[in-house]
Amino acid sequence: MRGVETLDELRARAEACTRCPLHRGRTRVVFGEGPPDAKVMFVGEGPGYQEDRQGRPFVGDAGKILTQLIEAAGMRREEVYIANVVKCRPPGNRAPEPGEAEACAGYLDGQLHHVNPRIVVALGRIAARRLLGREIAVGKEHGRLYPLGPRRLLVTYHPAACLYGKGVRPLLEEDFRSLGRMVKEVL
Ligand code: SF4
Repeated sequence: MRGVETLDELRARAEACTRCPLHRGRTRVVFGEGPPDAKVMFVGEGPGYQEDRQGRPFVGDAGKILTQLIEAAGMRREEVYIANVVKCRPPGNRAPEPGEAEACAGYLDGQLHHVNPRIVVALGRIAARRLLGREIAVGKEHGRLYPLGPRRLLVTYHPAACLYGKGVRPLLEEDFRSLGRMVKEVL
């Protein structure tokens, strides 16, 4: 990443990016959205069908759940930053491969650098693995806080997990209640 690059320039670079094979199947690059000085950043896995069409993160069914959880934590969606590990949709909504996440790493790193959130929330295993740099069992380690440089990282499930298993929603809600308390304490 070039040192003098702004967040808008980073976005423009992502929108023309062909660094990994995911560029071939995308309709839109989904860079991320939110205030450039947001205090809380959510990191998901990658764009799905609706996100790929609209060019915005978390706008499908999982996005509706995320918005509800953010509001239940006492925040508004408009005041948080939302990004993904990869900016282009993996085919068939599969998880991004490690090489794709690595190719795309500079964009998420740049977003963290520019937005400089106090709290980062990893939504699911792929985001947690990318941010922690190791494999993680979300079922065992969700709800915990980790240091992430000067920030705090909260690991939880991906909201889409609620669509496949009813037992996940209460766990996500509890993690977001913790987030709400943390936001009040830290911010
Ligand atoms: S996923 Fe990331 S690295 Fe791959 S083409 Fe898209 S923007 Fe570039």
